[in-house]
Amino acid sequence: MLQEKKVLVRCDFNVPRKEGKITDDNRIVMALPTIKYLIENNAKIVLFSHLGKVKTEEDKAKNNLECVAVRLQELLPETKVTFCPVTRGPELEEAVAGLKDGEIVLVQNTRYEKGESKNDEELGKYWASLGDVFVEDAFGSVHRAHASTVGIPTNIKENGLGFLVEKEVTMLGKAVDEPAHPFVAIIGGSKVSSKIDVVDNLLKKADKVIIGGGMAYTFSKATGGKIGTSLVEDDKLDLAKEYLEKAGDKLVLPIDNVIADAFSEEANTGVADAGQIPDGWMGLDIGPKSVELFKETLKGAKTVVWNGPMGVFEMPKFAKGTEEVCKAISELDDAITVIGGGDSAAAAKQLGYADKFSHVSTGGGASLEYMEGKVLPGIAIIAEK
Ligand code: AMP
Repeated sequence: MLQEKKVLVRCDFNVPRKEGKITDDNRIVMALPTIKYLIENNAKIVLFSHLGKVKTEEDKAKNNLECVAVRLQELLPETKVTFCPVTRGPELEEAVAGLKDGEIVLVQNTRYEKGESKNDEELGKYWASLGDVFVEDAFGSVHRAHASTVGIPTNIKENGLGFLVEKEVTMLGKAVDEPAHPFVAIIGGSKVSSKIDVVDNLLKKADKVIIGGGMAYTFSKATGGKIGTSLVEDDKLDLAKEYLEKAGDKLVLPIDNVIADAFSEEANTGVADAGQIPDGWMGLDIGPKSVELFKETLKGAKTVVWNGPMGVFEMPKFAKGTEEVCKAISELDDAITVIGGGDSAAAAKQLGYADKFSHVSTGGGASLEYMEGKVLPGIAIIAEK
């Protein structure tokens, strides 16, 4: 029973803004199912979130959470939404004590507190003392052990996951931990160093792991290929070689590339087979033969996890590989298809395919860490309790 209970909710209201105005309220909208459920059940609701990075007094002014309270009030016209401009003290305590059933207080940016990011014990205890129940609904922050994500639930008796986090965990879990086979993972993006842990974990679970994007050139060079001036991490060549040896044909790499003579939309372009990129040229997208190979690999897949673009999709000339792969995944019949946040989510949205996926994760860092097989502290603490 939630009636009359003070329910503390960690939301992810870290919204993009320009000149103080919210430019995309998606994160606020995504939090509404949990908030509405609490309103309908007559809880007294206290919302917490961080916004941006706060190091200086100037950062505080830039990242005041009040703009979110204004938008939330517009989205919930029948609910009283009060903004509390401080993160502790009598003003906050009185605002919480004065809540009637079904009303909301939004607390100032949690990062106004230095102890937030350090999971300061006293801060977690203090925030926990304001309520009876804690709800974790900030998927974008659950990979961080902060006072608002871990400190509060550590110090409160009743805990639960909000609808947003529950959906993320269910969908990512279905895809990564209990996949229907064939399971194909597609990993792209710029760097081997930032994705190798994902590749490593998914190689243990998937039937095929496709690698595209800038990171493919390090693998190509590791096998003696010529990569011109393509993106490469020379200190990861041995690692790439090791993975190629241990994964065998489970790893699927591009067989050709769209190449350019400059990192520019105005560059001259061409196509070269993998490992045969001429001097002075760089690979900026997968080529047409790779698109066909990747489509063939995806055929019949029952689970697909995708993280990272196949090329520099921000430039239309080099977006085709990402678009084709995105399209091929979205057209699979009867498959669980999950985008692991960040750039691939942006690409799918930009290309108009986002709503054709089973799930588009909202948390870049958190979903990456989930795919790496890491424990997400904000969720582990709830499970523990
Ligand atoms: P990540 O954050 O690691 O997922 O990387 C995403 C970025 O990788 C995007 O901004 C892409 O433009 C970039 N990227 C993808 N393919 C290439 C490539 N072949 N060369 C350089 N950058 C790339």
